[in-house]
Amino acid sequence: MPVMAENWHALSSTDTLTRLESRASGLTEAEAKERLSKFGANTLEEKAGKSPVLRFLSQFASPLVYVLLAAAAVSAFTGHPVDTLTILGVLLANAVIGYIQESKAEKAMAALREMAAPRAKVRRAGKLRDITAADLVPGDVIIIEEGDRVPADARLLELAGLRVNESSLTGESEPVEKALGALRAEVTVGDRTNMVFQSTAATQGKAVAVVAATGMNTELGRIAGSLSGITEEKTPLQKGIARLSNYLVIILLAVCGLILGVGLIRGLEPVEMFLLAVAAAVSAIPEGLPAVVTVVLAIGMRMMAQRNAIIRKLVAVETLGSATVICSDKTGTLTLNQMTTRQLYADGRSVDITGEGYRPDGEFQEDGKVIAADDETLRLALRIGALCNNATVTTGQECCSLFGDPTEGALLVAAAKAGLFKEDLDKQYRRLDEIPFSSERQYMATLNDAGKVHITHAKGAAEKLLGMCSHIYNGGRPAALDEAARHGVRRQIETMAGQAMRVLALAYAELPTTVTRLEEEHISGKLVLAGLAGIADPPRPEAREAVAAALGAGIRVVMITGDHAATAQAIAREVGIGGGRAMTGADVAALSDAELAAAVKGVSVFARIEPLQKLRIVRAWKSHGEVVAVTGDGVNDAPALKAADIGVAMGKSGTDVAREAADMVLADDNFASVVAAVEEGRGIFNRLRAVIYFLLASNIGELMALAAAIAILGDAPLLAAQILWINVVTDATITVPLAMEPRRGDELKSPPRSPEVSIIYPGLMWRVGYTALIMAAVVFGIFYWAEQRFTVEEARTLVFCTVVSFELWKGFIARSDELPAIKIGFFSNRWLLLAIGIAVLLQLAAVYLPFLQAAFRTVPPTPQMWAIAVGAGFSIFAVEELRKIFFPRLFSRGKWRRGE
Ligand code: ATP
Repeated sequence: MPVMAENWHALSSTDTLTRLESRASGLTEAEAKERLSKFGANTLEEKAGKSPVLRFLSQFASPLVYVLLAAAAVSAFTGHPVDTLTILGVLLANAVIGYIQESKAEKAMAALREMAAPRAKVRRAGKLRDITAADLVPGDVIIIEEGDRVPADARLLELAGLRVNESSLTGESEPVEKALGALRAEVTVGDRTNMVFQSTAATQGKAVAVVAATGMNTELGRIAGSLSGITEEKTPLQKGIARLSNYLVIILLAVCGLILGVGLIRGLEPVEMFLLAVAAAVSAIPEGLPAVVTVVLAIGMRMMAQRNAIIRKLVAVETLGSATVICSDKTGTLTLNQMTTRQLYADGRSVDITGEGYRPDGEFQEDGKVIAADDETLRLALRIGALCNNATVTTGQECCSLFGDPTEGALLVAAAKAGLFKEDLDKQYRRLDEIPFSSERQYMATLNDAGKVHITHAKGAAEKLLGMCSHIYNGGRPAALDEAARHGVRRQIETMAGQAMRVLALAYAELPTTVTRLEEEHISGKLVLAGLAGIADPPRPEAREAVAAALGAGIRVVMITGDHAATAQAIAREVGIGGGRAMTGADVAALSDAELAAAVKGVSVFARIEPLQKLRIVRAWKSHGEVVAVTGDGVNDAPALKAADIGVAMGKSGTDVAREAADMVLADDNFASVVAAVEEGRGIFNRLRAVIYFLLASNIGELMALAAAIAILGDAPLLAAQILWINVVTDATITVPLAMEPRRGDELKSPPRSPEVSIIYPGLMWRVGYTALIMAAVVFGIFYWAEQRFTVEEARTLVFCTVVSFELWKGFIARSDELPAIKIGFFSNRWLLLAIGIAVLLQLAAVYLPFLQAAFRTVPPTPQMWAIAVGAGFSIFAVEELRKIFFPRLFSRGKWRRGE
């Protein structure tokens, strides 16, 4: 087991490896396991969350509860022990329900945090593995690439142009260039150039390093403590709902005050009247609303996660529902990112390659006839593709999975099909240096030792590399690349790209052995073009349907890709993204922001776009008031992801930096998951509206009935305890199942909701008003009728059951404002049926069980009373059902757009 030293930067890399009892091929799994138990997980200690007891107690911390406690005290002192107990019982029930809801939301958030956990690429026993960063131990050999968040403090062993942004640790925003040499012991963290530190971000290049410290022993662990994971600040929707609740509290308290006043004037008993007013206030105020909103959002997040869209910022859940433009990458998002080299163009000949996937079985064909792959230029091109390559394809029993970039995998496999294997070539041409691939550079080059000379091998975007070539390999030797030859190659590129292939040029240059470090100037304008590789990457089978669904939902789909215009357009056509002209990165660069804003609306395909240009395109779309979702995976996509309304990063192929900038991460990198998330987002909004309708319609209806009876008849139709009971039995039980209402499948049929339209819209308020009025009128009528025929206990029992019946039927009508139950299926929300079943049992208990009869002063209802109660509630269901059949959009005003 290694001894822990402090000054790793003062040791040479080999000494560091020795001291850490590790080696270049990494630790074995057994060693890693042993060290994990000794050093603990590579995580920072989190601040402890609220304890369950505290969370339960905090449910009581609300002004409403204080009022109720006061009411309980008043009833106790004035000789109403049953009321006291009921109020306390209700308080307890409310707290338990609030506690459960909060824990549910908390659990959903924790599960999401888990899914967003950082990962690390590690070499264990010579094999590359992708593990959760928490499992890293000192001595592990890790690989750090552009865009990675460094998973632990580590000493560098190998370098290729690594630059690291250390601002999270040192505050210095300029990326730091790294080196290998040992440093003086007293050098401070910011200047330890041979080390990388946890939480800093690799912005360029790559490196191999050995982990020196993990968890709380890292520099970050020492200074910080806890890293923020998912941002949990309140979303605009949650804030809006909180504001709405506050207004309602004031209005409803005023109404209850009024009822109290009227009651007192009408000569009702003051204590009874006070308790009644308090109970009315408590049941009318939708105190559970903010909690329900959080639960709906949390449940929605879980549903999105099940469909591979992992939410990082809660706000995305609501913004997604109003997305109007989705800007999507091509490679891997709309396509499978399963690359296969289909064609090679070398020495003026076009050769097709057969075979699928990463299995090195396939033939070379020319004009449909099998040929031997022994042509010199062809082999040269294949050799370049295999040498200028960092991918590996597993062989032997575990054949043939790819580790690394699929484009590179495709080139490796093509070479293997001709009997050229990377392991052999790497031995023959030892690699001395590398210019890593980046989306801006659009090419990659390596420097290899060929004995008498050094050779640079380069591959990259065809036009880019063509521009760096001075010669072309023809007839066994390099010939000058004149304008006519250049033109011929360009035509060939267009033809291949037009067949939806990504076209890479393969080139080389001989350099003197004095060149040991590769710089762009060594190769620019000196390369010899050996050939072109046409690589196919088929569209995802589900992409076409997802694009169609998005278009049907009024959402524009735009492709933004680093690939060639012709390739991009061919793929766009295949997945159904609108035609029109493709705009290229060069076009974008030539336009001012205003010109770009004017132009974007007519463009659906942006090709050869550099990541930083993505930001300009996103801004241009946003300037038209569009709600833009944009996908990205690289470090330089981060600004565009941040600027977008919904930044979407790739979970599999994306970099940590992109993921951290994003609002949502796609677990499967699939475009269809963005559309699924939009669908879920809209579903969540519908559910919230259903819950709000239910709460408002029920509470306002009850209050109106109460006010009318007291003012007109001079008697209360319900007792305080009964009102509180209704509040718990119906409000609490019905809202949760409404929040779990299954998706209907019509979410993508309507246009996107304009962001200025809030959850509450004019049509919704009209609907609340009319249904509340019907309920109040019917309840009042029944009380009036019953008062003259029955005892007051009987009349109240009847009203008590009638109101509960109304609420339960309302549960059904709240599910949709346009679709009748016969269309959405009476039984499709099982949770609602279950909740209604429970509520019915509770209500039966309240009128039949002797001790509850005593508490609520109820009597067993006669069959006639039951018929009235159930029938009255059903009336509202029938009226709404007919309304939805004949006038489905009567209350849709302002639902999606203001005034429409
Ligand atoms: P998208 O933005 O849709 O994901 P992309 O993956 O094609 O598109 P980039 O990764 O930026 O975009 O690649 C740009 C171009 O660089 C590609 O079209 C290809 O020609 C070239 N290229 C891609 N990968 C490599 C690589 N590993 N080595 C050399 N050149 C590459």
